[in-house]
Amino acid sequence: LTAADPVLDHRICVCVRKRPLNKKEVGRKEIDVVTVPSKNIVMVSEPKSKVDMTKYLENQNFRFDYSFDETCTNEMVYWYTARPLVECIFEGGMATCFAYGQTGSGKTHTMGGDFTTGKAQDTRKGIYALAAQDVFHLLQKPTYRHHNLDVYASFFEIYSGKVFDLLNKKCRLRVLEDGRQQVQVVGLQERRVTSIEEVLQLISDGTRCRTSGVTSANQHSSRSHAVFQLILRRSGPRQILHGKFSLIDLAGNERGADTTSADRQTRVEGSEINKSLLALKECIRAMSQNKQHLPFRASKLTQVLRDSFIGERSRTCMIATISPGITSCEHSLNTLRYADRVKEL
Ligand code: ADP
Ligand code: MG
Repeated sequence: LTAADPVLDHRICVCVRKRPLNKKEVGRKEIDVVTVPSKNIVMVSEPKSKVDMTKYLENQNFRFDYSFDETCTNEMVYWYTARPLVECIFEGGMATCFAYGQTGSGKTHTMGGDFTTGKAQDTRKGIYALAAQDVFHLLQKPTYRHHNLDVYASFFEIYSGKVFDLLNKKCRLRVLEDGRQQVQVVGLQERRVTSIEEVLQLISDGTRCRTSGVTSANQHSSRSHAVFQLILRRSGPRQILHGKFSLIDLAGNERGADTTSADRQTRVEGSEINKSLLALKECIRAMSQNKQHLPFRASKLTQVLRDSFIGERSRTCMIATISPGITSCEHSLNTLRYADRVKEL
């Protein structure tokens, strides 16, 4: 990868990010089956023999707008994916960026960053924070300064088809659609923010709220979609919406397969996740083909993101995250096939 400005002239950008093998996988001497031979290609070496996993490997190639290997930082991933979309919201457009992949593959690391200590100043920035940083930069640019824009942030979670406000004690929110198909999340907190420090604090608080009262943070976040939004409004009494950037840390895609589990709750969650990930794919595809009809009502996720899929200036970016170990091979291939289907035709 070079530091050159990424050119993104199409509305949908689909990328893949491979994380490094973690300590556990290294300890198990797991084989890394994913390689990134060029900046567009990801190759998976799938074992074809159950007897000797190392012996019969079949290589499968996938092509994307960008492929990031394990040496790439959040900053680099950001630069080629979400960065071009920040400009888009200043131009009055709507933007979305999704992290899609198996639990443990790096979605939260990519989007939310790492908040190990809970203190905002110890954060390793993810795309939420990097995008916010650039929003504040662009606000100072002569081109945009006279627009008189204010920045707001909201943060919510969709769990089993229900919406919860992460900036307001996980308060359950209703989603309403009016006669003109405008969708509204009633009562969603929108906080005015004026500095990156304030945004980091909101991300940290919201992330803590997301996992409060649950026994395992990853168990819970693997079953819910987290939506962080940066909203530009014109200053003034009416606070007219100018542009919106929705950044989404999706539920683990392996959860979509939990539709045959013995546990009823798990089954219900699984089919809900399955439904929303299918609807998401269909909405993005419909958007890239400029179709009039979008199947956004098929899930709560696509319903609340409806206004981001319509309009000529809407842009979307998907980052498919994959675990490199041989034991994740099947899931990684599923993720890559999904991302492949999302790509523009
Ligand atoms: P997910 O949200 O998809 O379940 P996480 O983002 O929580 O996965 O990642 C699982 C673990 O792997 C975390 O400890 C995270 O810090 C680490 N990790 C993920 N991606 C990377 C990466 N690109 N580089 C280093 N560590 C990573
Ligand atoms: Mg996560």
